[in-house]
Amino acid sequence: MEVNSQDAITRIKESGMRVVRLIADGDCRYGLADNATVTLISDEPFAAWEPEGAIGLRSAQLLTPVVPTKIVCVGINYRGHAEEMGHEIPTEPVIFLKPPTTMNHPGGEIVIPPGTGRVDFEAELAVVIGRRTHRVTAEEAAHNILGYTCANDITARDIQKRDGQWTRAKSFDGFCPLGPWVETDVDPSDLRIRSYVNGSVRQDARTSDMIFNVFELVSFVSHVMTLVPGDVVLTGTPSGIGPIEPGDEVEVEIEDIGSLVNTVV
Ligand code: MG
Repeated sequence: MEVNSQDAITRIKESGMRVVRLIADGDCRYGLADNATVTLISDEPFAAWEPEGAIGLRSAQLLTPVVPTKIVCVGINYRGHAEEMGHEIPTEPVIFLKPPTTMNHPGGEIVIPPGTGRVDFEAELAVVIGRRTHRVTAEEAAHNILGYTCANDITARDIQKRDGQWTRAKSFDGFCPLGPWVETDVDPSDLRIRSYVNGSVRQDARTSDMIFNVFELVSFVSHVMTLVPGDVVLTGTPSGIGPIEPGDEVEVEIEDIGSLVNTVV
């Protein structure tokens, strides 16, 4: 029986499974994971998929859980980060884009580009869009969200200051680690979010400190550009940002979602 995409998203959300993308028998595949097992699916999670076999989660080589057409980011969205950057509390979200070529897989290497000075980590809650989203209210936004994952909005801080706008500083290849999976069954309103460099805590905050909540952000962005399934909205970073250097291991951990670890080279 043909299943439309509305039903596909509903099936996943009702199952409480996590959406993963992985290498299986040499191919990129989507799957639905519990704590131990990945059920491979026949198509994108947004399409009319059917289950197609299973593999163990631990042995799976995970990729970014989705392939967005765009990554929309919010500049200053935690009260603590606004303070540390010397910014006023914004009265509307400040948004910018990272190109899809910034995507970096769980466990992937973050390359410090030649000619950059300070490069910073920024732990962020990432919203993954599940349905075409155009001019929705904050109330409608929740219905269109597939789930949530961890992101690291890597930023070349000195270039950001020098350029006076953010495109170059935020857009180097690999500057958006994303994963390890999309958690579909979680309330994003008050989750602990932490980052670590080489095992020591650098950021430790709660998503309840956001200035604009995830539903307000998705609504705001959807009045500028249409979001399509797989698109990602990064919701800003809390206070405690700092530099990373070659040899470092950087981790973003979000309560009830998971942990995203990358190495710096
Ligand atoms: Mg950021």
